[in-house]
Amino acid sequence: MILLEAKDVCKYFHGNKAVDMVNMTINEGEIVGLIGANGAGKTTFFNCLTGYYKATSGTIAFMGKSIEKAKPHVICKMGVGRTFQIAKPFHGLSVLENTVVGAYNKCKTKSDAYKKARECIDFTGLGDKEGLDAASLNTGEQRRLELARALATQPKLLLLDEVMAGLTPTESAEMVELIRKIRDSGVTILMIEHIMPALMSLSDTVYVLDQGRLISKGTPEEVSADKQVIESYLGKSAEV
Ligand code: ATP
Repeated sequence: MILLEAKDVCKYFHGNKAVDMVNMTINEGEIVGLIGANGAGKTTFFNCLTGYYKATSGTIAFMGKSIEKAKPHVICKMGVGRTFQIAKPFHGLSVLENTVVGAYNKCKTKSDAYKKARECIDFTGLGDKEGLDAASLNTGEQRRLELARALATQPKLLLLDEVMAGLTPTESAEMVELIRKIRDSGVTILMIEHIMPALMSLSDTVYVLDQGRLISKGTPEEVSADKQVIESYLGKSAEV
Protein backbone atom coordinates (compact mmCIF):
# COMPACT_ATOMS: atom_id res chain seq x y z
CA MET A 1 0.00 0.00 0.00
CA ILE A 2 1.25 3.48 -0.86
CA LEU A 3 1.55 5.57 2.29
CA LEU A 4 2.95 8.77 0.87
CA GLU A 5 3.03 10.11 -2.65
CA ALA A 6 4.74 13.39 -3.51
CA LYS A 7 4.42 14.67 -7.05
CA ASP A 8 6.42 17.49 -8.66
CA VAL A 9 7.06 19.14 -5.30
CA CYS A 10 8.85 22.50 -5.51
CA LYS A 11 9.92 24.89 -2.78
CA TYR A 12 11.50 28.15 -3.85
CA PHE A 13 13.04 30.76 -1.58
CA HIS A 14 13.19 34.00 -3.57
CA GLY A 15 14.32 32.25 -6.73
CA ASN A 16 16.52 29.69 -4.93
CA LYS A 17 15.06 26.35 -6.02
CA ALA A 18 15.67 24.48 -2.76
CA VAL A 19 13.35 21.65 -3.90
CA ASP A 20 12.69 21.34 -7.60
CA MET A 21 10.09 18.96 -9.05
CA VAL A 22 10.69 16.11 -6.62
CA ASN A 23 8.63 12.92 -6.85
CA MET A 24 8.60 10.27 -4.14
CA THR A 25 6.51 7.21 -3.37
CA ILE A 26 6.76 5.51 0.01
CA ASN A 27 5.17 2.11 0.52
CA GLU A 28 4.00 0.88 3.89
CA GLY A 29 6.68 -1.04 5.77
CA GLU A 30 9.64 0.40 3.87
CA ILE A 31 12.70 2.25 5.08
CA VAL A 32 13.43 4.94 2.50
CA GLY A 33 16.71 6.85 2.58
CA LEU A 34 17.14 10.42 1.37
CA ILE A 35 20.68 11.57 0.67
CA GLY A 36 22.50 14.45 -0.97
CA ALA A 37 25.20 17.02 -0.28
CA ASN A 38 24.73 19.82 2.24
CA GLY A 39 22.15 22.25 0.91
CA ALA A 40 20.69 19.70 -1.56
CA GLY A 41 17.19 20.34 -0.21
CA LYS A 42 16.61 17.31 2.02
CA THR A 43 15.40 19.11 5.14
CA THR A 44 13.36 21.55 3.04
CA PHE A 45 11.62 18.57 1.46
CA PHE A 46 10.92 17.13 4.94
CA ASN A 47 9.50 20.51 5.93
CA CYS A 48 7.16 20.43 2.92
CA LEU A 49 5.98 16.90 3.78
CA THR A 50 5.27 17.84 7.39
CA GLY A 51 3.60 21.20 6.79
CA TYR A 52 6.39 23.38 8.24
CA TYR A 53 6.77 24.86 4.76
CA LYS A 54 4.03 25.18 2.20
CA ALA A 55 5.32 23.76 -1.06
CA THR A 56 5.50 26.38 -3.83
CA SER A 57 3.83 23.84 -6.11
CA GLY A 58 3.18 20.12 -6.42
CA THR A 59 0.99 17.68 -4.56
CA ILE A 60 1.56 15.52 -1.49
CA ALA A 61 -0.84 12.76 -0.47
CA PHE A 62 -0.68 10.76 2.75
CA MET A 63 -2.86 7.64 2.78
CA GLY A 64 -4.67 9.05 -0.23
CA LYS A 65 -5.46 12.40 1.39
CA SER A 66 -3.99 15.64 0.16
CA ILE A 67 -1.72 17.25 2.79
CA GLU A 68 0.26 19.88 0.87
CA LYS A 69 -1.80 22.68 2.40
CA ALA A 70 -2.29 21.14 5.85
CA LYS A 71 -0.80 22.54 9.06
CA PRO A 72 1.94 20.56 10.91
CA HIS A 73 -0.30 19.51 13.82
CA VAL A 74 -2.94 18.19 11.42
CA ILE A 75 -0.36 16.18 9.49
CA CYS A 76 1.02 14.85 12.78
CA LYS A 77 -2.48 13.78 13.84
CA MET A 78 -2.93 12.00 10.54
CA GLY A 79 0.12 9.88 11.39
CA VAL A 80 3.28 11.58 10.15
CA GLY A 81 5.88 12.00 12.90
CA ARG A 82 9.32 13.53 12.66
CA THR A 83 12.54 14.27 14.46
CA PHE A 84 14.68 17.36 13.90
CA GLN A 85 18.28 17.71 12.77
CA ILE A 86 19.13 19.53 15.98
CA ALA A 87 17.59 17.78 18.99
CA LYS A 88 15.52 20.28 20.92
CA PRO A 89 14.24 18.72 24.11
CA PHE A 90 12.22 20.93 26.44
CA HIS A 91 14.76 21.80 29.13
CA GLY A 92 13.35 21.88 32.64
CA LEU A 93 11.03 18.99 31.77
CA SER A 94 11.93 15.39 32.53
CA VAL A 95 12.45 12.72 29.88
CA LEU A 96 8.99 11.40 30.70
CA GLU A 97 7.33 14.83 30.50
CA ASN A 98 9.04 15.56 27.18
CA THR A 99 7.65 12.34 25.78
CA VAL A 100 4.18 12.92 27.21
CA VAL A 101 4.02 16.08 25.07
CA GLY A 102 4.16 13.84 22.00
CA ALA A 103 1.73 11.31 23.44
CA TYR A 104 -1.05 13.91 23.71
CA ASN A 105 -1.18 13.89 19.91
CA LYS A 106 -3.43 10.83 20.10
CA CYS A 107 -4.04 10.10 23.79
CA LYS A 108 -7.13 11.72 25.29
CA THR A 109 -6.46 11.18 28.99
CA LYS A 110 -3.47 11.91 31.19
CA SER A 111 -3.12 8.28 32.25
CA ASP A 112 -3.15 7.10 28.63
CA ALA A 113 -0.57 9.73 27.68
CA TYR A 114 1.77 8.69 30.50
CA LYS A 115 1.31 5.02 29.68
CA LYS A 116 2.14 5.60 26.00
CA ALA A 117 5.11 7.83 26.92
CA ARG A 118 6.55 5.18 29.27
CA GLU A 119 6.12 2.52 26.58
CA CYS A 120 8.08 4.68 24.09
CA ILE A 121 10.80 5.54 26.60
CA ASP A 122 11.29 1.85 27.34
CA PHE A 123 11.27 1.06 23.62
CA THR A 124 14.08 3.54 22.96
CA GLY A 125 16.16 2.33 25.91
CA LEU A 126 15.68 5.35 28.16
CA GLY A 127 13.60 3.52 30.77
CA ASP A 128 16.02 4.20 33.61
CA LYS A 129 16.23 7.91 32.75
CA GLU A 130 12.57 8.91 32.76
CA GLY A 131 12.89 11.18 35.80
CA LEU A 132 15.98 13.07 34.62
CA ASP A 133 15.86 16.61 33.26
CA ALA A 134 16.16 16.29 29.48
CA ALA A 135 18.94 18.90 29.55
CA SER A 136 21.17 16.46 31.46
CA LEU A 137 21.14 13.84 28.69
CA ASN A 138 24.16 13.29 26.45
CA THR A 139 23.87 13.57 22.64
CA GLY A 140 23.02 9.90 22.11
CA GLU A 141 20.35 9.98 24.79
CA GLN A 142 18.88 13.21 23.39
CA ARG A 143 18.56 11.51 20.00
CA ARG A 144 16.72 8.64 21.67
CA LEU A 145 14.46 11.10 23.44
CA GLU A 146 13.64 12.75 20.09
CA LEU A 147 12.68 9.29 18.83
CA ALA A 148 10.64 8.49 21.92
CA ARG A 149 8.73 11.77 21.63
CA ALA A 150 8.08 11.21 17.92
CA LEU A 151 6.99 7.59 18.51
CA ALA A 152 4.66 8.73 21.28
CA THR A 153 2.64 10.63 18.64
CA GLN A 154 1.87 7.14 17.23
CA PRO A 155 3.01 7.76 13.65
CA LYS A 156 2.41 5.51 10.68
CA LEU A 157 5.23 7.27 8.87
CA LEU A 158 8.26 8.58 10.75
CA LEU A 159 10.68 11.10 9.22
CA LEU A 160 14.15 11.00 10.73
CA ASP A 161 16.47 13.95 10.06
CA GLU A 162 20.06 12.86 10.74
CA VAL A 163 19.37 10.95 13.94
CA MET A 164 22.93 9.65 13.92
CA ALA A 165 24.61 13.06 13.73
CA GLY A 166 27.13 13.48 16.53
CA LEU A 167 26.90 9.87 17.71
CA THR A 168 29.91 7.66 18.42
CA PRO A 169 30.32 4.58 16.18
CA THR A 170 28.90 2.40 18.98
CA GLU A 171 25.90 4.69 19.47
CA SER A 172 25.35 4.76 15.68
CA ALA A 173 25.34 0.96 15.55
CA GLU A 174 22.76 0.90 18.38
CA MET A 175 20.71 3.50 16.52
CA VAL A 176 20.69 1.30 13.39
CA GLU A 177 19.24 -1.52 15.48
CA LEU A 178 16.67 0.81 17.05
CA ILE A 179 15.54 2.09 13.63
CA ARG A 180 15.13 -1.52 12.46
CA LYS A 181 13.12 -2.28 15.59
CA ILE A 182 10.87 0.72 14.90
CA ARG A 183 10.23 -0.49 11.36
CA ASP A 184 9.56 -4.02 12.60
CA SER A 185 6.97 -2.58 15.00
CA GLY A 186 4.99 -1.42 11.95
CA VAL A 187 6.21 2.14 11.42
CA THR A 188 7.33 3.14 7.92
CA ILE A 189 10.47 5.30 7.84
CA LEU A 190 11.89 8.06 5.65
CA MET A 191 15.36 9.03 6.80
CA ILE A 192 17.98 11.62 5.95
CA GLU A 193 21.45 10.44 6.92
CA HIS A 194 25.03 11.28 6.02
CA ILE A 195 26.51 8.11 7.55
CA MET A 196 26.42 6.00 4.41
CA PRO A 197 27.12 2.49 5.74
CA ALA A 198 24.22 2.92 8.18
CA LEU A 199 21.85 4.41 5.63
CA MET A 200 22.69 1.89 2.92
CA SER A 201 22.31 -1.08 5.28
CA LEU A 202 18.89 0.10 6.49
CA SER A 203 17.23 1.41 3.32
CA ASP A 204 15.03 -0.54 0.93
CA THR A 205 15.03 2.39 -1.48
CA VAL A 206 17.30 5.43 -1.64
CA TYR A 207 16.49 8.82 -3.19
CA VAL A 208 19.27 11.24 -4.09
CA LEU A 209 18.87 15.01 -4.26
CA ASP A 210 21.32 17.38 -5.89
CA GLN A 211 20.63 21.13 -5.85
CA GLY A 212 16.97 20.50 -5.22
CA ARG A 213 16.51 17.96 -7.98
CA LEU A 214 16.06 14.23 -7.73
CA ILE A 215 19.02 12.74 -9.61
CA SER A 216 18.66 9.07 -8.69
CA LYS A 217 16.38 6.56 -7.05
CA GLY A 218 16.83 2.84 -6.51
CA THR A 219 18.13 0.14 -4.25
CA PRO A 220 21.25 1.01 -2.23
CA GLU A 221 23.29 -1.04 -4.72
CA GLU A 222 21.83 0.78 -7.74
CA VAL A 223 22.30 4.21 -6.26
CA SER A 224 25.85 3.46 -5.05
CA ALA A 225 26.80 2.51 -8.61
CA ASP A 226 25.16 5.56 -10.22
CA LYS A 227 27.86 7.75 -11.80
CA GLN A 228 25.95 10.97 -11.24
CA VAL A 229 25.49 10.13 -7.56
CA ILE A 230 29.17 9.31 -7.15
CA GLU A 231 30.13 12.60 -8.82
CA SER A 232 27.70 14.79 -6.92
CA TYR A 233 27.82 13.17 -3.50
CA LEU A 234 29.22 9.74 -2.73
CA GLY A 235 32.63 10.45 -4.27
CA LYS A 236 33.07 13.24 -1.77
CA SER A 237 32.11 11.10 1.21
CA ALA A 238 34.87 9.34 3.05
CA GLU A 239 32.43 7.12 4.88
CA VAL A 240 30.99 4.99 2.04
P1 ATP B 1 22.04 19.67 5.09
O1 ATP B 1 22.52 18.30 4.73
O2 ATP B 1 23.17 20.64 5.28
O3 ATP B 1 21.06 19.69 6.22
P2 ATP B 1 19.83 19.96 3.17
O4 ATP B 1 19.98 19.04 2.02
O5 ATP B 1 18.90 19.56 4.25
O6 ATP B 1 21.27 20.27 3.79
P3 ATP B 1 18.29 22.36 3.08
O7 ATP B 1 18.53 22.74 4.49
O8 ATP B 1 16.97 21.83 2.73
O9 ATP B 1 19.43 21.36 2.59
O10 ATP B 1 18.60 23.64 2.19
C1 ATP B 1 18.37 23.67 0.77
C2 ATP B 1 18.55 25.08 0.28
O11 ATP B 1 17.46 25.89 0.73
C3 ATP B 1 19.84 25.77 0.74
O12 ATP B 1 20.30 26.57 -0.32
C4 ATP B 1 19.34 26.60 1.91
O13 ATP B 1 20.17 27.73 2.09
C5 ATP B 1 17.95 27.01 1.44
N1 ATP B 1 17.02 27.27 2.55
C6 ATP B 1 16.58 26.34 3.46
N2 ATP B 1 15.70 26.90 4.31
C7 ATP B 1 15.58 28.20 3.93
C8 ATP B 1 14.83 29.32 4.41
N3 ATP B 1 14.00 29.18 5.46
N4 ATP B 1 14.95 30.50 3.77
C9 ATP B 1 15.77 30.64 2.71
N5 ATP B 1 16.52 29.63 2.20
C10 ATP B 1 16.42 28.44 2.80
